[in-house]
Amino acid sequence: MTNQQKEKIANLRLKGLSYTEIADRLNVSRAAVVSFCRRNDLQASQPDTDVCRECGSALVQTPGMKRRVFCSAGCRVRWWKAHPERLSGKATYHFVCKKCGKPFSAYGNAKRKYCCHECYIEDRFGGGKDE
Ligand SMILES: [Zn+2]
Ligand SMILES: [Zn+2]
Repeated sequence: MTNQQKEKIANLRLKGLSYTEIADRLNVSRAAVVSFCRRNDLQASQPDTDVCRECGSALVQTPGMKRRVFCSAGCRVRWWKAHPERLSGKATYHFVCKKCGKPFSAYGNAKRKYCCHECYIEDRFGGGKDE
């Protein structure tokens, strides 16, 4: 590959063209485009290969069906656990603990009052001593 070709690959890739489209345009092999892009960490806005977002294994898309992003339910669960902030509709709420006064935050739960279970127990049952 010439330097000019490499430059064009980078440009086209950043514009969002797929590896195949770039290879066709510049008349180089798709494999060369892929390895060049991987080496230089060139990411298109739309990934052209469908791989599991969690484990990176190849995905089989069913035409007409919603695009899959995970290879399995297990991968979906793991990914969402690692990225709780990406859950749509679940904002982060900020609170001050009713018991100890410590600020804390929680995902997707607007009704938290205590920073931890111990504070909840203590405030609610007062340690269970006087009553
Ligand atoms: Zn997976
Ligand atoms: Zn507390």
